[in-house]
Amino acid sequence: MKTFLRIILGMLLASACMLALMRWFGTPSSVALRPLDPAFLRLTPQEMVTLPVATRFDMPLGSEHGALTYNARAFRMAGHLGDDLNGIGGGNSDLGDAVYAAGTGRVVYAGFPHESWGKMIIIAHRLPEGDEFGPVVQTVYAHLQAIQVRVGQLVRRGEIIGTVGTAKTAPLAHLHFEIRTGPYVNPGQGYADVPLNRISPQVFVRTHRGAAPEVLNPAP
Ligand SMILES: [Zn+2]
Repeated sequence: MKTFLRIILGMLLASACMLALMRWFGTPSSVALRPLDPAFLRLTPQEMVTLPVATRFDMPLGSEHGALTYNARAFRMAGHLGDDLNGIGGGNSDLGDAVYAAGTGRVVYAGFPHESWGKMIIIAHRLPEGDEFGPVVQTVYAHLQAIQVRVGQLVRRGEIIGTVGTAKTAPLAHLHFEIRTGPYVNPGQGYADVPLNRISPQVFVRTHRGAAPEVLNPAP
């Protein structure tokens, strides 16, 4: 009996030490990156109705109209499921540039799903009633250098959520930006022969930015 108690005590002590060490050597940044939580794979009806309504969307890089940026690989070009947004300086000149939330919503994923994606953020947005893409769309920001939001956080349109970075399959810095319809939260794939649940980010933002092109400042 004594030996048994000693073993139990030893195990308790060992796990306490392990926990202390894990705390000590854990992620030092204020943003803890976590693997995909299956609980976030699908938004529940309650999660959907409590999303803030996004009445307007802007481009996530450059100015709110996307000035000083260009789209190096557009939606569906060779099976690409998003837009590759770059600063007009080309190369790595946009490395570390601010990435903005395209619309008001809630962060439903923030992490490192795969080395081809790099660091990635997904924000869910509820659209006003009657919108053809509603009730929920998700904006996806990949190949980030830094993530500055956490899962569950509410963000406003135009708020800085991270910075432009690279990934294993994206050695030159750019922002891979996608817009997806529906409640399924999953990093998924960036290329496919069919559009899956992705829609053209440029077309979506153009029709949801709340102002006609002629009243926006033109890109220099
Ligand atoms: Zn891309």
